[in-house]
Amino acid sequence: MQSVKKEIVMGGIRPTGFLHLGNYFGALRNFVRMQDEYPCFFMLADLHSLTTHPDTKELKNNIHRVLAEHLASGLNPDKCALYCQSHVFETAELYLYLNMMSMVGELEKTPTFKDKVRQHPQNVNSGLLTYPVLQAADILLHRAHLVPVGKDQEQHLEMARNIAGRFNHRYGDVFPEPVAFNFGSELVKVPSLDGAGKMSKSENQYATLYLSDPDDLIRKKVMKATTDSGPKEPNTPKPDYIENLFLLMKLVSTPEVVQKFEADYNACTIRYGDMKKQLAEDMVNFISPIREKAAAIQQDTEYLKKVMVQGAEKARVSAQATMKVVREAMGLNYY
Ligand code: ATP
Ligand code: MG
Repeated sequence: MQSVKKEIVMGGIRPTGFLHLGNYFGALRNFVRMQDEYPCFFMLADLHSLTTHPDTKELKNNIHRVLAEHLASGLNPDKCALYCQSHVFETAELYLYLNMMSMVGELEKTPTFKDKVRQHPQNVNSGLLTYPVLQAADILLHRAHLVPVGKDQEQHLEMARNIAGRFNHRYGDVFPEPVAFNFGSELVKVPSLDGAGKMSKSENQYATLYLSDPDDLIRKKVMKATTDSGPKEPNTPKPDYIENLFLLMKLVSTPEVVQKFEADYNACTIRYGDMKKQLAEDMVNFISPIREKAAAIQQDTEYLKKVMVQGAEKARVSAQATMKVVREAMGLNYY
């Protein structure tokens, strides 16, 4: 019987700050499950950080903490390739080739680019414009097919597919067209606690729950979440900020707890103070074991180094094999 070749998985997170609940439920949770089922490449996207965080003083510390947070969340460096983007030089070569297949007009229209231009008008560098090209290079470097990401990355994946399609059309079938992946169905968006946008490393920091937040800070942030005086009529549709609270509760609380507050809401007897207290305790119970584990791992710099070296070796083998095929396909072979 012929063995079925498993699809390759590639995912990444920028070491731009502290990991949060959105990174966990949008990306990490899927990474952890996928490492048991597929060949996986997971990357700390340090080169992507440079587009918005050119000051590198904090980078080493961030890399160590974010790597520790990956390990504390359950990634096993023996089951997957867990590596730093900048350790795999082939990324830069593929990025260069793919830039020739990326249309400036399309890049300029990307909503994330427009957002960043608004946020950092004094640093609209071309790396920011070509961010989706670098992301396509990260994925295609391993000829990956499945990309576990949160909802905010959906459009970048579409661009990676366009770029892969254009390469294949021009030079022959080298790359699979990558798709955004989430166990379950819908891609996840973990909302910020103030109802404005998503939880994020670089924005909405007081409305974001970080995996490193101490218990009291978690409680404080949850208790400050926006609510109102409650519904006046049974079965009223929920306003967005209340919907978000329920969404957060579904991530960390038991189904019974969620059902109780749903029923209270529909009967107009809900007390948001009680709901937030419950949510805060469930968040503390979810976050504190990861925080403590990550803090311990982060101290062991020898182990972190070993993980990075081992991950880079695995990623390079895959990257070098792909680049050989890419150069051949492009006709960059003169003897
Ligand atoms: P930054 O603000 O520096 O861009 P970020 O929080 O957006 O940080 P990224 O490193 O850009 O994090 O994204 C890493 C992964 O986490 C991606 O797969 C992204 O889709 C996912 N992700 C980020 N925020 C959320 C969120 N709030 N809900 C679901 N997934 C998220
Ligand atoms: Mg982001």
